[in-house]
Amino acid sequence: MPEGDTIARIATTLRKALKGARVEIRGHSTQLRPSSDRVVEIESRGKNLLIHFEKRTLRTHLMMHGAWHLYREGEKWQRPAFQARIALHADNGFVAVCFSAPVVEWLKPETLAHLGPDAMSDSFDTATARRRLRSRPLEAYVSDALLDQTAIAGVGNIIKCEALFNCRVDPFRGIGSLDDKTIDALVAECRRLLRRHATRGRKNVYRRSGEPCRVCGAPIATRRTSRLTYYCPTCQK
Ligand SMILES: [Zn+2]
Repeated sequence: MPEGDTIARIATTLRKALKGARVEIRGHSTQLRPSSDRVVEIESRGKNLLIHFEKRTLRTHLMMHGAWHLYREGEKWQRPAFQARIALHADNGFVAVCFSAPVVEWLKPETLAHLGPDAMSDSFDTATARRRLRSRPLEAYVSDALLDQTAIAGVGNIIKCEALFNCRVDPFRGIGSLDDKTIDALVAECRRLLRRHATRGRKNVYRRSGEPCRVCGAPIATRRTSRLTYYCPTCQK
């Protein structure tokens, strides 16, 4: 699943192409009626992509299989048209197509009300993130808590695994057993990794099951709770 860093990159690409343009909005496999509107701004909020028009905002969430592609008008699409959920045909010749996203809808004000501080944002609020993490049951695994989008928006499974390793925290400790310093360090590491687009770089543990730990040489282990966690059983005690 694309994490917050990937969605932020998509927002930057689409912003350069579409900001200020008038677009024909064509729903394919959505209930959205065809219409025309001007793009005012494009931003990511956690894993949500928001395209702000003059009077409304389109929200997409890519989940596992969704993707945004940018084409020139008339250019052949790289995925079949039946997978297109919405296409934005801009008056400057760009066409942005969203394929296979489960969520393509006009944003309702309440939808993002519970979203936590955005890890990619400069105005990220660590105290709020810590408080939201602490609001979960004391025994909730820290590995599951970090994925809670109401605590830190944008963190996915890759960043979760890598941050827990880099901070040498046992993924299966209860969130209630961690002190503030450890929680703040984990939050900061999630942000640092996302902001340097670490979902694309070299990993320490993610998808390295059975391979030697880069620090101690022990084989990287896995365990499934809400998602599959990759970790070093020796370094992360
Ligand atoms: Zn190790």
